Amino acid sequence: MAAASTQTYYRELCRLTRARLGGLHSPELLIRSLDFAKIEALQTKGDWTAAGAILNDEAKALQRGGAHLIILATNTMHKLARQMMLGVEVPFIHIADATAKAINEKRLRRPGLMATAFTMEQSFYTDRLIAAGLDPVLPGVADRAETHRIIYEELCKDITTPESTATYVAIANRVVASGADGLILGCTEVGMLLNQGNVSVPVFDTTLIHCAAALDWALQ
Ligand code: GLU
Repeated sequence: MAAASTQTYYRELCRLTRARLGGLHSPELLIRSLDFAKIEALQTKGDWTAAGAILNDEAKALQRGGAHLIILATNTMHKLARQMMLGVEVPFIHIADATAKAINEKRLRRPGLMATAFTMEQSFYTDRLIAAGLDPVLPGVADRAETHRIIYEELCKDITTPESTATYVAIANRVVASGADGLILGCTEVGMLLNQGNVSVPVFDTTLIHCAAALDWALQ
């Protein structure tokens, strides 16, 4: 999806593989990197069926290419996980399940969620967290809009600024003040601005959690 987070996935998978296996080891990967402008246009139009068909074609291409496991490097497009995996036999790790597992392991219950408006406001993601026993806390209306705007206008274009970092820190603080006991960086680019160094509660960076889950699976 957005190339900014595809790069983070690649770097993190390489880093984790080196950390686990040492030496010159690096992960064997097939990366399908798409033109995100086309995907974003379908998201904005609400044409999820067309977007799902693209993802399904790509998953089948990865299967034909010999992939043993598929991960989708975005939270938002997990809305289409079922459609994407139709007719695909390769195992798939859902980013929300991996994240919920990490939160449950820390025995936290009320994670804040900073993500795209799609992920925060539609139910495909929060329902999955609720099914895992969690009680997600969302930012207020204006904070959700600003979180979403910064993702698409800046982070997806690889732009990070001190102003947007300060805005995200302030939003995170308000989510914590409204009762969150942890914070899900629920968009794969949010880690470009927030991390455990500038958030006061335990941070769950979906990108890093997803990469670790994929590598755990691969090394088993
Ligand atoms: N990467 C973002 C996410 O995790 C949003 C952009 C996209 O759809 O890839 O939701």
